[in-house]
Amino acid sequence: MTADLKKSERRWIRPLPERLINKIAAGEVIERPSAVLKELVENSLDAGASRIDINIEKSGLKLISVIDDGCGIDPDQIEIAFARHATSKIKDFNDLEALLSYGFRGEALPSIGSVSKTKMISRTAEAEAGREIIIEGGVVQSVKPTASPKGTKIEVSDLFFNTPARRKFLKTETTEARHLTRTATAMALGASATAFSYTINGRRLFVLNKNEANQKERVSSLLFGDYKTPLFGIEYKSDLLEIGGFLSYPDNCRRNRYGLYIFINNRYIYSQSLLHAVTSGYGELLPPGNYPVGAVFLNIDPLHVDVNVHPTKAEVRLSDERMLHDLLYGTIKRTLRGSDEIPRKPIIDSSGMSAGGMTVAEAVNKLKSHPTKSELAQSSAFLDKLYDSGRPAPAAADTPGQGEDEAQVQEREQEDISKPESEPGIKYLGQFSELYLLFNVDGDLLIIDQHTAHERILYEEHLKAIESGQVVSQNLLFPVNIELPADRYALYEEASEILLKAGIMAEPFGTRTVMLSAVPLALAKKSPERIFNEVLGDVEELKQAGQDIRKAVAQSIACRAAVMAGQRLTEEEALALFNNLLKTENRHCCPHGRPTILKITRDELDRKFGRK
Ligand code: ADP
Ligand code: MG
Repeated sequence: MTADLKKSERRWIRPLPERLINKIAAGEVIERPSAVLKELVENSLDAGASRIDINIEKSGLKLISVIDDGCGIDPDQIEIAFARHATSKIKDFNDLEALLSYGFRGEALPSIGSVSKTKMISRTAEAEAGREIIIEGGVVQSVKPTASPKGTKIEVSDLFFNTPARRKFLKTETTEARHLTRTATAMALGASATAFSYTINGRRLFVLNKNEANQKERVSSLLFGDYKTPLFGIEYKSDLLEIGGFLSYPDNCRRNRYGLYIFINNRYIYSQSLLHAVTSGYGELLPPGNYPVGAVFLNIDPLHVDVNVHPTKAEVRLSDERMLHDLLYGTIKRTLRGSDEIPRKPIIDSSGMSAGGMTVAEAVNKLKSHPTKSELAQSSAFLDKLYDSGRPAPAAADTPGQGEDEAQVQEREQEDISKPESEPGIKYLGQFSELYLLFNVDGDLLIIDQHTAHERILYEEHLKAIESGQVVSQNLLFPVNIELPADRYALYEEASEILLKAGIMAEPFGTRTVMLSAVPLALAKKSPERIFNEVLGDVEELKQAGQDIRKAVAQSIACRAAVMAGQRLTEEEALALFNNLLKTENRHCCPHGRPTILKITRDELDRKFGRK
């Protein structure tokens, strides 16, 4: 032909024979066995299959077989399906713009048919019998009726038998097998509502049941071989974009990026920029050279994604790729490292006031009571004022006693404070019996019960946290799964929202199992399982006693986290405790109603000792 062209003066433009076009196209669309698999599974998904069985022999060179239970092909259409640009999926250009199905070019079947020996058997629900077509190197060998269940079975044999160059271009069977498995995995990740089985070179690599509800379990079992691997979910939603998915914790990463799958509108894609967004979302939590494992799903208005870029459609063109990158990055970063609401470490205000060589903030931390920055600022300002002005804090006597009203209390306080013989300020005298903290406040003796006082502080803090969502919790290094008895699980479900708000990050994880990934900072030193069970136990009890869940949770955390009798406190800790107690709303009793402060005035003592 080339010789002909050279000889002739005029060059005729003529259409290429269809078989040749298909073969050329095949070079583009089907570069390797995994591309065939992808096209076939996409067709099955487009056909609404609820189960797809894949079998591969000799890494796809001998056989790629896909069986589905989808809608099937009408008997008199089966031949057309193998004709170029024949598709049931779009009719005009408008459709193309808002494309949601996988296939749309009508290119796959003719291309595959032209470079292999393909047999397809298909039956629709309406058809009485199925139909079988055999096509070899693009030439239809036979079309005939055959018995078949509803759905489609396609067997692609001897791939590239007639394109030796392409066949030679393939990598080793191991490499092709890896591509195939990655493709099968991606397809199964993207379609968690569909059951899958996948067998390659005689090994059944996965069997997945139809699992509408739990994408997380599917991600876990496909990528870790165990449906219970702890993963964290990501979520973002706006008018234009939705982000979802599940990713491994930093301690469960890989040294290559092949465990990370990104999908746009359920289509598995490769995007350097989005991969970067995910890994940089982990930031310094990810050891150098490591990559997270998991699946990220982006759903974008189809008008904003150009899927019509490359025939294999693995690379999509994104309008606003930068914005997408930043939103994905931000979502992961926020989820993993905690936003302002979930810092991994307590916020320590370096400007916290110094109390005996230790900042108030440090002392407070030591007590596991965790003030926010502004609270600390307030508290140090408060103590500053106390020392600087030499004016003592209004201590115990600030609530109306019997028959007193607010005004009288204020008056009495004014009186107290202005007592000329008072020794101004607070002086810590010591701990008595490893339980009572003794202070000289303004010349009177103040006794604080360290446990009930701390309980009060923590209770109000956690109640506020629950109400405002300003929770301070500590992520567990290894999330734990806790199986609960049925009644406890029911209680957990009832309380779960409040538990989350209180910093107990527990999520349902299969029947009657929860995955605990963070606990309130105040409880971070204890065994997470124990905390979880104890808190649920307390909540159950308090609820029966008529307490609302919000208060019950706060109360339980406070009680579990408070310093116990028998614990020795340093002066700094004692002062911080006192300081924090003064800031509580109801400083006189613990949440159970036991007193926190007792004040014995100099007068009282004098009288008792017969001095007055
Ligand atoms: P496209 O998927 O781009 O439409 P294909 O060449 O992959 O093009 O398929 C051509 C047509 O064959 C599809 O539009 C569809 O109507 C039909 N088809 C292919 N595979 C299946 C299947 N597994 N189940 C039902 N119909 C199928
Ligand atoms: Mg297709």
